[in-house]
Amino acid sequence: MSDNLVVLNNLKKYFFIKEGFFSGKETVVKAVDGVNLKIRRGEILGLVGESGCGKSTTGRLLIKLEEPSGGEIYFDGEDITASNGERMRKLRREMQIIFQDPYSSLNPRKTVGKIIEEPFIIHKIGNRKERKERVKCLLDVVGLRPEYIDRYPHEFSGGQRQRVGIARALSLNPKLIIADEPVSALDVSIQAQVINLLQQLQEDFNLTYLFIAHDLSVVEYVSDRVAVMYLGRIVELSDSRELYKNPQHPYTEALLSAVPVPDPTLKKKRIILEGDPPSPITPPSGCHFHTRCRYKIEICKEEYPVFKEVTTGHFVACHLRD
Ligand code: SF4
Repeated sequence: MSDNLVVLNNLKKYFFIKEGFFSGKETVVKAVDGVNLKIRRGEILGLVGESGCGKSTTGRLLIKLEEPSGGEIYFDGEDITASNGERMRKLRREMQIIFQDPYSSLNPRKTVGKIIEEPFIIHKIGNRKERKERVKCLLDVVGLRPEYIDRYPHEFSGGQRQRVGIARALSLNPKLIIADEPVSALDVSIQAQVINLLQQLQEDFNLTYLFIAHDLSVVEYVSDRVAVMYLGRIVELSDSRELYKNPQHPYTEALLSAVPVPDPTLKKKRIILEGDPPSPITPPSGCHFHTRCRYKIEICKEEYPVFKEVTTGHFVACHLRD
């Protein structure tokens, strides 16, 4: 059995949009543009970047909520790039997603019992009594009282609703969970509780996570390794501690400078990135980051840097590391 549960090879997702209402011309948006990534069994891999960098699309491609425009997706040794229909339905038992907004991802007209029970019904698992018992057990696992089974989503707080989403994701004993900004919509005071719960569940059920976030401080706390994404590509990948101690890409360095440190005596200089990220419709030539990079050199405008290993397990795409 391979160490990797997921392998993404040169994964791409291009969207084609019309230039004008009457125009037949189309523009390509390269939301994900050649992502290579391996997720090891039992690890938490953080995927970080600014909004619009393609991190959520990568997660959705991985579990085939979107069809890729190119590349390959391997799950548990199987090439699932072209899988669909019945095969994909079966595979979805093993890969689940937790969404950012727990309120809009839960049907307000159904009780949490019905919401969590749904995957069992779809996959024809158990009879009514067995399903109800399982739902109560899942509520207990995520720290909610089993008596809440007949309540509706609006009767819960944001953190509790996210726990319901987690219970539903766990219902079919998945191997992989894509946690797509699972705490971004929650109060800071609740975020730590939900993160602790996700970590505890990972240990208890030997889960593998792709943990997507725009905030490096969240990812630092939970991840074994972290991949940093910019404009549809991975620009740095490393063991989490190494990345925070020794960032190699100027973009990672700038993101890290914005992470607060718990010790008030330590002063950190914040690197302000100029401007918004460029549009993926017209990415800058060469290194896509060169329009915002304070270290850029001549070659940066001409050539995209190769993504290469600079120290064991630490990969970066930057000409400064050549
Ligand atoms: Fe900056 Fe050049 Fe490195 Fe890109 S390749 S991050 S522009 S130094």
